[in-house]
Amino acid sequence: MKKVAVLGSTGSIGVQTLDVIRKNPDRFRVWALCATGKNRRLLERQAQEFKPAYLATTLNVELELPPEVKHLKGKDSAITISQLEDVDIFVIALSGLSGVLPTYYAASSGKRVALSNKESVVSAGEIIMERAKKTGTEIIPIDSEHSAVFQCLLGQDRKALKRLILTASGGPFRNHSVEEMERVTPEEALSHPVWNMGAKISVDSATLMNKGLEVIEASVLFGVPADAIDVVIHPEGIIHSMVEFTDGSSIAQLGPADMRIPISFALGFPERVRSGAGYLDLTSVGTLSFEKPDFERFPLLKLAYTALKTGKSAPAVLNAANETAVEAFLEGKIKFTEIPKIVAAVMEKTSFAEIKSMEDVINIHKEAQKKAQAFIKNL
Ligand code: NDP
Ligand code: MG
Repeated sequence: MKKVAVLGSTGSIGVQTLDVIRKNPDRFRVWALCATGKNRRLLERQAQEFKPAYLATTLNVELELPPEVKHLKGKDSAITISQLEDVDIFVIALSGLSGVLPTYYAASSGKRVALSNKESVVSAGEIIMERAKKTGTEIIPIDSEHSAVFQCLLGQDRKALKRLILTASGGPFRNHSVEEMERVTPEEALSHPVWNMGAKISVDSATLMNKGLEVIEASVLFGVPADAIDVVIHPEGIIHSMVEFTDGSSIAQLGPADMRIPISFALGFPERVRSGAGYLDLTSVGTLSFEKPDFERFPLLKLAYTALKTGKSAPAVLNAANETAVEAFLEGKIKFTEIPKIVAAVMEKTSFAEIKSMEDVINIHKEAQKKAQAFIKNL
């Protein structure tokens, strides 16, 4: 029986993780849950159902919990959970940079990290990978593209790897003109055509920044340079990514657009466990189509490639500026088309530094956040 800590249990990935665990009671036990505490009722229900040993809320809230559940409260409680010694699998399903320190500590555990939080890999990739290597921690990606690449690489000759091809649905504004994008509302940005996800990643999918962050994530996780990672728009969302080899062969991973598949893979690997997802019926899908991404209408994708090639703190600054701009868009403070403008302005006004510690990561993030906030004020 594997003990699982789910950080971000009330979010889209967290809820689906608990569903996979519910379907495999013989293999997994929920050992810890963690969220902010805003979603009180949901957390209480999760605690009632799974009776974890620990439940952490980063806010100081009162919850009605079964007596055996130990409630940890406060800002650092997510970090405490990520340092629990009796956990076998840490699922990091926190959103944004709130995931970075828990990911760092979980990556130092010598256990398994099932990782969905791409922002931490973008901002602190090198440090996290180094910690994992040193301690023998297995990082298995939950992000569907990276799970696909991971699966396509199994048993392959890594020296023969030529290119990674990440697929993207293209988001809800794939065919919008720049003028139409000017008028996009948060509600429209939140309705993704293929996936049902949390607010931040939904907006990132609409700007294609999500794919940009994923290019950086893929480079970090698989040790592949920017010019060996391509993005292809594939609106049907059936092929989750591909790997190309030097002999001209490409291997792809296909499946229904259901995050419980990569989640169950990350929990069960090397075994395949129950996911609860359906199966592909390619004849009812009919056609699979592919397009080149439009870097002009979606400048954040290009900016992400530039940040990856620039290295140093550029990806961390990109991520922080984007997180701040997306928040402002969701609060109705800026237009959709101003998100890339803010990010580009912050990138332009920053001289990038080496990142040597987690302290550097946090400071660089805060500084870029401040710059972005100043640009937002002066719009
Ligand atoms: P959600 O916004 O749906 O959920 C985020 C979770 O993190 C919630 O449980 C939230 O708690 C918790 N959380 C947020 N901030 C804090 C904090 N400061 N302290 C403690 N808990 C916090 O996000 P998603 O599930 O959509 O995404 C999670 C991560 O997975 C993101 O990095 C995203 O990019 C990545 N991802 C998501 C996919 C998806 O399909 N959703 C696909 C691929 C990757 P609360 O409810 O209390 O606010
Ligand atoms: Mg993805």
